[in-house]
Amino acid sequence: MPLTPMQIQELLDDNHEHSCDGYGCDHICVKIAAIADLPSRFGQFQVVAFCNNKDGKEHAAFVHGDVYGADDVPVRLHSECLTGDVAGSLRCDCRDQLETAMRTIGSMDKGILLYLRQEGRGIGLTNKIRAYGLQDHGYDTVEANLALGFLDDERDYSIAAHMLDSLKVHSIRLMTNNPKKLNALTEYGIKVNGRIPLVIPPNPYNAFYLKTKAQKSGHLLDASGKEHLLEQRDRPIVDGMTEEQIASLGE
Ligand SMILES: [Zn+2]
Ligand SMILES: [Zn+2]
Repeated sequence: MPLTPMQIQELLDDNHEHSCDGYGCDHICVKIAAIADLPSRFGQFQVVAFCNNKDGKEHAAFVHGDVYGADDVPVRLHSECLTGDVAGSLRCDCRDQLETAMRTIGSMDKGILLYLRQEGRGIGLTNKIRAYGLQDHGYDTVEANLALGFLDDERDYSIAAHMLDSLKVHSIRLMTNNPKKLNALTEYGIKVNGRIPLVIPPNPYNAFYLKTKAQKSGHLLDASGKEHLLEQRDRPIVDGMTEEQIASLGE
């Protein structure tokens, strides 16, 4: 059951006049601006558009099933990656993670994907492409990282927490391979009742993960064998990986 017309009206009414001190150190307050049906190739969704009071960034929630006041709602946080999500870039695996999350949620009873407009770890498309350019010209990952700057974790999770509250979700299970993310959301008052690992089906493009990095082959390395930046802050687990391979991914 999707959000009912009555629930949609309640959400819109509640948000119409909403204003708060905001979540996190940047005090960003978001509010629901519009809701509509969104049939997709991953299943039946509703899309919820959020506007915010700081930087004009429009975040979105892709909602599947009855999440209003619900407990243990599977939730995935996805940071925007234009090059990966839209163009299918192989410099990162954002699109694999996005598609897997949408497909998984679409096959479940209910779930939410929060699409956070944090392109290039929060510094925007232009700076991300600059860092790609530096890598193309031989900069190593650390140097390119410095050029990219670091993602402001606090802001990312605070907006996500506010969005979940705005949607009146009671408690969640977070789809992530990074247990640290759970604590971050908990800090902002979200009741996180567990974690669902995100396991990506194998395909020719992510088969790299099934091999050892020592082979210096695969799409997520550049010509000189240097690793590309991880944009989703989630180590990918591909179906078929051994426990050892998963462990070697780090946190
Ligand atoms: Zn607010
Ligand atoms: Zn990406």
